[in-house]
Amino acid sequence: MRKACRAMTFGLLATVALSSAGAFAGTITKKPFGLTHDGVAVEQVTLNNDAGGSVSLITYGAIVTNLSVPDKSGKSSDIVLGFDNLKQYEDQSPYFGAIVGRVGNRIAKGLFTIDHEHYAVPVNNGPNHLHGGFKGLDKRVWKVETSQTANGPAARFTILDPDGAEGYPGNLNITVIYSLSAKNVLKIEYYANTDKATPINITNHTYFNLKDGGKSDILSHILQVNADAYTPVDDTLIPTGKIAKVKGTPIDFTAPKPIGKDLKAMGGDPIGYDHNMVLRSQDGSIALALVLSEPESGRRMECWTDQPGVQFYSGNFLDGGATGKDGAVYKQYHGLCFETQHYPDSINHSNFPSVVLRPQEHYHSVTEYRFFAGQ
Ligand code: BGC
Repeated sequence: MRKACRAMTFGLLATVALSSAGAFAGTITKKPFGLTHDGVAVEQVTLNNDAGGSVSLITYGAIVTNLSVPDKSGKSSDIVLGFDNLKQYEDQSPYFGAIVGRVGNRIAKGLFTIDHEHYAVPVNNGPNHLHGGFKGLDKRVWKVETSQTANGPAARFTILDPDGAEGYPGNLNITVIYSLSAKNVLKIEYYANTDKATPINITNHTYFNLKDGGKSDILSHILQVNADAYTPVDDTLIPTGKIAKVKGTPIDFTAPKPIGKDLKAMGGDPIGYDHNMVLRSQDGSIALALVLSEPESGRRMECWTDQPGVQFYSGNFLDGGATGKDGAVYKQYHGLCFETQHYPDSINHSNFPSVVLRPQEHYHSVTEYRFFAGQ
């Protein structure tokens, strides 16, 4: 699969990443986060640095529950949507902070074929399959180990996604490593291998709100994306297969623009952005995908990735039905996601970069969210 193969083995990479304690050590704490409805214990890990940054993660869904970085006055506060208890994550979370997959985003009608074998995965979103099905990676309890690494304190989440789970072929061993550097770079690295050819498209579904973590809308955030094209969708949000130019359309973010400026013109039901943007860099090396800034707090976030696309989702389906951390009521557009990934429904579009991982191949991908303030 494109960009998935690396010469080194997964095991070696993971060991290297976790054993190279460096001069950037921050602190790591761990505490219980409750029991799932099935009685499984969930833990929360927090990584801190000396630059006012901290990230908390839970073993349920390998979810980012909290992410604090400084504003222009140096004050740190939480900039992601989420809950302070496990029950809400299990019962009412629209994938807040979660690792989604085995295939993130949609597969049309839940059907695909690999090597002449036909597969059917659950239809859990209108007529389509979304984010790995009814019990995707976001709804499983992962294992976690922590350590100091060259990238700062790190949490390494692992899970075996068994052959046949949610209809997918092959035992898929997955590792996701989150680290927080001394310069407020949240790095997410993904590794996987399989014993049978399978589609894979794993990403993180954090909802950001650089102003206040989701108490107000994100419409005045300013966005610039290094994408000259996007993949238009039908009314069930499945790509038509076209790669269309953004120039002259409401989804043209080639120059910095407030998100609210052309949002209504984008249309959709509900109205807003929920589209895969085709990133300029397509060679599998890590490149700057987008810059998001928020004038009042002075926070700026850069997203760097080696993936060919980013799903830009403006929180269109948030409806105020969930009250989260610090009493925040998550209404429409109160958070936005940048899910770095391959294009939706790639498995059914031969003109899109392939998402098939085969035995002997090693899946690896990396995304960094880099935070700055007051510039
Ligand atoms: C999808 C949206 C979906 C949301 C779920 C996004 O990745 O593109 O259509 O509603 O996830 O919260």
